[in-house]
Amino acid sequence: MSTIKINDKVFNISITHEMIQEGVKRVADEINKDYKGRKPLLLGVLNGSFMFTADLMKNLDIECEISFVKFSSYEGTDTTGNVRQLIGLTESIKGRDIIIVEDIVDTGLTMQKILDILTVDEPQSIAIASLILKPARLKVPVYVKYSVFNIPDRFIVGYGLDYDGLGRNLPNIYEVVE
Ligand code: 5GP
Repeated sequence: MSTIKINDKVFNISITHEMIQEGVKRVADEINKDYKGRKPLLLGVLNGSFMFTADLMKNLDIECEISFVKFSSYEGTDTTGNVRQLIGLTESIKGRDIIIVEDIVDTGLTMQKILDILTVDEPQSIAIASLILKPARLKVPVYVKYSVFNIPDRFIVGYGLDYDGLGRNLPNIYEVVE
């Protein structure tokens, strides 16, 4: 389906499932090369990154581990600017190579908060893998080493991303029709 409706909003298809799979494979190949022999710990940021994290993991052929943290900063389509930690990390990350796996880096405020928290525990390194980066929206200097897609300032849903809790199950990514 090329156009969908969720509650009051209409969305057009923007990135197909095939394009996503190709993009995720490309980023996984980079990680396979960069982290060979280093056994990184992937940290998936719930809820939005669950599909991306799963597909990324499936394409990694290096030794790696996975854990999840959960933050929330969004209600509807508007950011509140407040980042709340909902579920924290339980295992030690001291001395580990960490790859944060995020759905979207938008203003970068969520990611900055995550980086602040993780840095206290002295990991060996931290890199960011984000399915989507909106470069024009960045408010803080967050370096996203692995970005699958850079997109303009549009609200999107699908492939794990929601609008008011809905749309996460869509295999494609759709952008809102203003
Ligand atoms: P940031 O703190 O970088 O502004 O926001 C990050 C979070 O906002 C993302 O993890 C995501 O949950 C949410 N977000 C930002 N842009 C979008 C968007 O276009 N669509 C959806 N569904 N969520 C978004």
